[in-house]
Amino acid sequence: MAKKGRVFSGARPTGRQHLGNYLGAIQNYVALQEQYDCVYCIVDVHALTTVETTEDLKSNALEMALDWLAAGIRPQESIVFVQSHVPEVMELHMYLSMVTPLGKLTDLPTFKEKIRQQPENVKYGLVGYPVLMTADIVLYKSDIVPVGIDQAPHLEFAREVVRSFNHRYNTKVLIEPQVKHTEILKVAGIDGREKMSKSLNNHIELASTPEETIQRVKDMVTDPARLRRTDPGNPDVCNVFTMHKIFSSAQEIGMINTECRKAGIGCVDCKMLFAANLNKHLEPFRAKRADIASQPSFVQDVLDDGARRARAIAQQTMTEVREAIALP
Ligand code: SF4
Repeated sequence: MAKKGRVFSGARPTGRQHLGNYLGAIQNYVALQEQYDCVYCIVDVHALTTVETTEDLKSNALEMALDWLAAGIRPQESIVFVQSHVPEVMELHMYLSMVTPLGKLTDLPTFKEKIRQQPENVKYGLVGYPVLMTADIVLYKSDIVPVGIDQAPHLEFAREVVRSFNHRYNTKVLIEPQVKHTEILKVAGIDGREKMSKSLNNHIELASTPEETIQRVKDMVTDPARLRRTDPGNPDVCNVFTMHKIFSSAQEIGMINTECRKAGIGCVDCKMLFAANLNKHLEPFRAKRADIASQPSFVQDVLDDGARRARAIAQQTMTEVREAIALP
């Protein structure tokens, strides 16, 4: 079946992926392959704006790619690669920076938020981050970028930069990417409050063993008002129930919804049911992950091949870009 266009998405190398990554991005990456040519980039250069040390970057990139592949990203079809392996993106970033007003960058809410988070570490790279992100997207002539509603302004920014470039050099060489609004699930961590995140250690790793997963699920915070087994609970405020709605059968969800409210089921049993369903769901992922991991250079070969294919597109784009600018 002919594909509808090219999708681009990037993610920082965060190592082993967790349930939040899976539900919020990876599942969507896998599904998009049915309709689009997909370019999935591990954005290691972006990571340099915030990481304190680079010693884990390579292993994190490999672990992340391994999880993506185990989850169903097909490297024969989709291009999976590491951002810095295609250095053309740095050159395009520089040209795009020439048509991007500084005021627009410093006005972006994400920049202001970063300044608030790390006032001691505001470098040029942080300000120019959205320009590099734009270069990532347009270098591969991407038509579509899947984003959640809250990220839509970033895409609009990228579209403005593309328009500025094309107008400045009287060209149509860069494609204005279209937004594909995607429901990006925000998954709460085991604390039941904050978004699931490795840095908060409130996550459930996809590659954990079934036993480790059960232990993490046991640690999940439930309805905080339910103090005793005999107290009725409220599934509407319970993160375990939210997870049941994703991983359990309609019958189980209905049963919990009813029984929890009249203390007919205890939180321990409820969690064990979720853990069992989650482990069952992850069985094929874990088997595939183990299989890929047993082939020593498989993931590196995928990334090398991805970089080669990505670079072929990038070099063509850069030839056109340099011509459009009329560089000597
Ligand atoms: Fe949450 Fe289940 Fe406990 Fe109800 S029984 S509070 S849904 S863990």
